[in-house]
Amino acid sequence: MATSLLRVCPPGELLRPLAVPERLLLGPGPSNVPRRIRAAGAAQLLGHMHPEVLQVMDEIKAGIQYAFQTRNRLSLALSGSGHCAMEAALLNLLERGDTVLVAINGIWGQRAAEIARRLGANVCELLKPPGEYFTPQDIEQGLVQHKPLVLFITHGESSTGVLQPLEGLGELCHRHGCLLLVDAVASLGGAPIFMDQQEIDVLYSGSQKVLNAPPGSAPISFSERAREKLLRRKTKPPSYYLDINCLANYWGCDGEPRRYHHTAPINSFFSLREGLALLAERGLESSWERHRANCSQLCQGLLDMGLELFVEEEKARLPTITTVRVPEGYSWKDITAFLMDQHGVEIAGGLGPTAGKVLRIGLMGCNSTWDNVERVLGALRDALQRCTRSRL
Ligand code: PMP
Repeated sequence: MATSLLRVCPPGELLRPLAVPERLLLGPGPSNVPRRIRAAGAAQLLGHMHPEVLQVMDEIKAGIQYAFQTRNRLSLALSGSGHCAMEAALLNLLERGDTVLVAINGIWGQRAAEIARRLGANVCELLKPPGEYFTPQDIEQGLVQHKPLVLFITHGESSTGVLQPLEGLGELCHRHGCLLLVDAVASLGGAPIFMDQQEIDVLYSGSQKVLNAPPGSAPISFSERAREKLLRRKTKPPSYYLDINCLANYWGCDGEPRRYHHTAPINSFFSLREGLALLAERGLESSWERHRANCSQLCQGLLDMGLELFVEEEKARLPTITTVRVPEGYSWKDITAFLMDQHGVEIAGGLGPTAGKVLRIGLMGCNSTWDNVERVLGALRDALQRCTRSRL
């Protein structure tokens, strides 16, 4: 019998139906995917060079330009998650030996520094304690001291819950001959950002937070200044998959006939298109306001329960992800497990420098609602009453 040749049997677990429970995802991402976006992802496949798919890609480009508030021609979505965009931004901008200044006040700066080191860049770190943000004076000192070609900074620091003010930073960087690279994975659509007006040179985000699409595609855009730096490169970017020049062609950003570069995750693009369409239909300003109002309601509810917010200054709190200190005597794991098991609600513990110290509650995109604020506060109240206090 032919099967006698097989030494590995069909796995029993794959012969059972797929099981996906209903959960309310109120952690730092991913957030729930509304029906319309799910339907787009479940559409029948088309070819990655079919005109209808290229049309969807053009629509995504227009959606990114709206969400980023930019007219940059070099705006597209990468086939990968937020990390893919971090890598793409850094490996296209930097060459071996280039100096990059990385603003570190949480895990994302740490990670950008790690990626840049792997690229052979000269990495200088600008440090702030987790929970704080950088002032223009902090940045200027770093620019004067290190004379970097690129500054990396995180707009929505999801490991600490900090919103980084960006006003004036682009102009400051440009005065010092430096490009401004901003991570907006956790903030795009939830807090104001104006790529062109704020003179941001490279901006990227992810699909699975405010945009409410599944993870796996990442909007990114490059300014003219950033494009000039790409043109001045002496060496090719070390990744073929993430070479922005090849991607620019596939995305129709260079005026040349589009050529195959890789087989794009077409259905992820359908979902991303719908996520951007929802944002466009509802309007950026109303999205920012909804996130602000619901976050402020959540913070008030947490304070009323006697809990302590990790980010002290109200204006520095990220409207999409709130960090609250783990109450004394409780274990964060017990609380998150209780919410999951008893209420079907996901919230998360800390990450990197906040691990073990905070709980992180995300209200992103369609999940940023009054009802969800009430639901997570109710579940937390229940957890604090019923989770046994850990032994101190
Ligand atoms: N940057 C920030 C600010 C993030 O919050 C995240 C995801 N939590 C990432 C980058 C990485 O994105 P991904 O997990 O989609 O790779």
